Amino acid sequence: MSITQQLLAVKARINKACELAKRPSQQVCLVAVSKTKPLSMVLEAYDQGHRHFGENYLQDALEKISANPYQDIVWHFIGAVQSNKTRSIAENFAWVHTIEREKIAQRLNDQRPAELPPLKVCLQVNISSEANKSGVSLADLPSLAAKVNALPRLELAGLMCIPAANQTQAKQQQAFADMAQAQQQLQQTYPQLTALSMGMSADLELAIAHGATMVRIGTDIFGARN
Ligand SMILES: *Cc1c(COP(=O)(O)O)cnc(C)c1O
Repeated sequence: MSITQQLLAVKARINKACELAKRPSQQVCLVAVSKTKPLSMVLEAYDQGHRHFGENYLQDALEKISANPYQDIVWHFIGAVQSNKTRSIAENFAWVHTIEREKIAQRLNDQRPAELPPLKVCLQVNISSEANKSGVSLADLPSLAAKVNALPRLELAGLMCIPAANQTQAKQQQAFADMAQAQQQLQQTYPQLTALSMGMSADLELAIAHGATMVRIGTDIFGARN
């Protein structure tokens, strides 16, 4: 299938999942994850009206961003953020989904160019409590949220997770349900914290059933990665 056909198929899955969950499909933003794929593939999706793209690897992303002729692509950084990469991320992205430390948030805040709107960020939660995995624990989430919320050049927009792979459907559902609960609790203090970034190619339906507002889909749009 072409990228156009795969994009349409993923959108159909999102619409169907929203229908089953009795949610309006405009509530779910499709972030097409183009990591490791060439700009030509991004532009094929762009020609179909797609505007939100997700990237993990900064160097790979910057090459595409600078070669891309369009101003209205919304770039999402969804990879691990290292300290020495924060400036380029602050300058080139609209969203960062993977905030897990105050120090990184502070650097992004300080380096966000004045002429750009605040950088929208999601706090990444280690929702399956995996050792050596990225993300803040649910216990530490409120204090990280308070620190990030105090940074004027960041907009505390939501939460993000990658549940553990190879776990039972029940555990995966629990992870998504816990994320939704955490988001609803934080939103009482931070009304702008409305985004729930969860769901990938294999589990987008389950994520949408639990309230995902952003799904990050790579393989099912652009094909398997090497
Ligand atoms: C690669 C990646 C995705 C996309 O995963 P697929 O299974 O290819 O859809 C989503 N989120 C993050 C953080 C990723 O690194």
